[in-house]
Amino acid sequence: MAKIFCIANQKGGVGKTTTTVNLAAGLAKVGQRVLMIDLDPQGNATMGSGIDKRRLETTVYDVLLESASVAEARVTSERCGYDVLGANRELAGAEVEMVALDRREKRLRTALAAVGAEYDFILIDCPPSLSLLTLNGLCAAHGVIVPMQCEYFALEGLTDLVNTIKQVHANLNKNLQIIGLLRVMFDPRITLQQQVSEQLKAHFGDKVFDTVIPRNVRLAEAPSYGLPGVVFDPPAKGSQAFVTFAEELVRKMPPASAMTSDASAPAAPMPMDPPPVTVHAPEETPESP
Ligand code: ADP
Ligand code: MG
Repeated sequence: MAKIFCIANQKGGVGKTTTTVNLAAGLAKVGQRVLMIDLDPQGNATMGSGIDKRRLETTVYDVLLESASVAEARVTSERCGYDVLGANRELAGAEVEMVALDRREKRLRTALAAVGAEYDFILIDCPPSLSLLTLNGLCAAHGVIVPMQCEYFALEGLTDLVNTIKQVHANLNKNLQIIGLLRVMFDPRITLQQQVSEQLKAHFGDKVFDTVIPRNVRLAEAPSYGLPGVVFDPPAKGSQAFVTFAEELVRKMPPASAMTSDASAPAAPMPMDPPPVTVHAPEETPESP
């Protein structure tokens, strides 16, 4: 059965989409069967996987409104080596249209049950908000991967996200766990980033992934070619880091049987508390060249 992970952080521009498509490509590269779901109406993860969102006839929108199954709406990205359940602007309407429907938070979860056996990993790229779309992602998932930049305000935003995940865990999806925090766009020359990175490690321990994704211009260029960096320029530092991250994730995964929603199993603990935000921007410390 597939392990289903949301890539979430309610801040925009923190690297969610870059993480989703490159992790999908990295997992595919190490032999995993992957479905990537774009839950953001911007459709960046769709385009960034080589699928033209404007030409899609069925998308995740149809799945949420139950006018298509996942099997009908998915497409395969041949170049990237994984399947894509795409999104486009139409998805923005789903938010409003779903409000009046029953089981509105659980529609994606229900739809994914039919294809879970076909994949090793299902990755969900969430929009930058804690909306009904994100809620559908969180209800469908076993875990959340949180990409974050090592900056002061990143820690502050984490508190809101952790509280939301706790609420979903308590009320809607007792299997939901935070799988880990992924440090992205990391620049070791910046003192504050090093400090925040150490603070994260100290507070969250092994909930912080070992792999660190560096700031790398090839990762930023790749989407304009409709590819994840891992496919566009495999030797680039950022691409290699994502393949290493994919390997780390595979290594750390418990067997699938431990992640099923078996009602007799005890609810997974919710092991993360919001962080104490104690890092101060250094005013005097000169940055290393
Ligand atoms: P989000 O999905 O959270 O809004 P994106 O993944 O779209 O964030 O990333 C925001 C911007 O940062 C994009 O222009 C992307 O290309 C760039 N970016 C993301 N990760 C990196 C990185 N490791 N190095 C350089 N640029 C990056
Ligand atoms: Mg995005």
